[in-house]
Amino acid sequence: MTSIETPPNTPVWIDAKRCKACDICASVCPAGVLAMTYDSTSTLGSKVKILSKESCIGCCDCELACPDFAISVASKDEFQFSKLTEEAKQRARILKENNYRIKD
Ligand code: SF4
Ligand code: SF4
Repeated sequence: MTSIETPPNTPVWIDAKRCKACDICASVCPAGVLAMTYDSTSTLGSKVKILSKESCIGCCDCELACPDFAISVASKDEFQFSKLTEEAKQRARILKENNYRIKD
């Protein structure tokens, strides 16, 4: 399912106008693909960053969990998704310990 035009070669993308930086998408991602970064130019103080698009498994958990329909996942025809690796799971664990926040 997509809500905005699909960018090329991208598994997941964010509509910044809708996003309220709640971090729910990052919290449900099993592969540590999404994290929150501080952003002084944002009225919300942070924004979602896509850390490692090559690790996205296309599960759509982020898209289904977003309360604002602000994040979209490519279809399997549009992007070659990864399998869930130990490295990706480890990154997800570390992000969780850091409240899904990273320094940019
Ligand atoms: S769940 Fe949706 S609104 Fe919340 S940070 Fe992610 S994209 Fe933004
Ligand atoms: S589709 Fe799944 S693996 Fe990809 S960013 Fe969303 S929650 Fe993470």
